[in-house]
Amino acid sequence: MEGIEKGKLVSSGKAKSLYETSNPDYYFMHYRDDTSAFDGVKKESLEGKGATNNKFNAFIMDILEKEGVPTHFERLLSETESLVKRLEMVPVECVIRNIAAGGICKRLGIEEGLDLNPPTFEFFYKDDELHDPMINEYHIESFDWATENQVDQMKEKTFQVNEILKNLFADAGMILVDYKLEFGSFKGELLLGDEFTPDGCRVWDAHTREKLDKDRFRQDLGDVVESYQIIAKKLGIE
Ligand code: 5GP
Repeated sequence: MEGIEKGKLVSSGKAKSLYETSNPDYYFMHYRDDTSAFDGVKKESLEGKGATNNKFNAFIMDILEKEGVPTHFERLLSETESLVKRLEMVPVECVIRNIAAGGICKRLGIEEGLDLNPPTFEFFYKDDELHDPMINEYHIESFDWATENQVDQMKEKTFQVNEILKNLFADAGMILVDYKLEFGSFKGELLLGDEFTPDGCRVWDAHTREKLDKDRFRQDLGDVVESYQIIAKKLGIE
């Protein structure tokens, strides 16, 4: 793994790009400054976001790995790049909500801020053109997006992440409102892939309930990267 070389661009998402490496089992993941919302309709480049998220993700993935959630993350390579295992992704997003915000408020007419006890779990099909529709586990199996065993593992691991991260954020004076995870398989094992950053979760200050995550971008609240850095600082990320 020493001296691993960056190769051809594999894919470019809305905020990250993946590159091949000299080792077929690994990819370079490049965190860009590009920021998007509403299925890519609202777009902006926010200076420093790529570097902030790269470091943030490494910190969280390290904690999850130590707590027994296997991830694709290997190590940081540069300010904006990480080495990750090459996964075959399940085209599904796993969302846990501890507090009602965003999509669930719109869909079910619920007031933002309602405590969800127990936390609720939702699957979405990853497809911007279809606006990531909500699906259930029967869809996942009927369309062969994942096996029954992988579905069970995705739910179990997403809840396991909630127990770990809810406490981590609470101890740092914040509320983990909700988050999205994506999984993929590597040599037959299901691993947590993609990223865990303020781009894909909601985090509020525990005392003021100020929004510190991507809702600042979605709702034009300003200080987007600065808020991500406030979360990082509270968590002790250097
Ligand atoms: P909602 O369904 O309320 O829009 O999103 C629930 C949670 O999952 C939020 O923390 C949101 O940031 C995250 N999430 C949902 N879909 C996506 C997505 O396509 N990309 C990213 N980065 N996060 C998402």
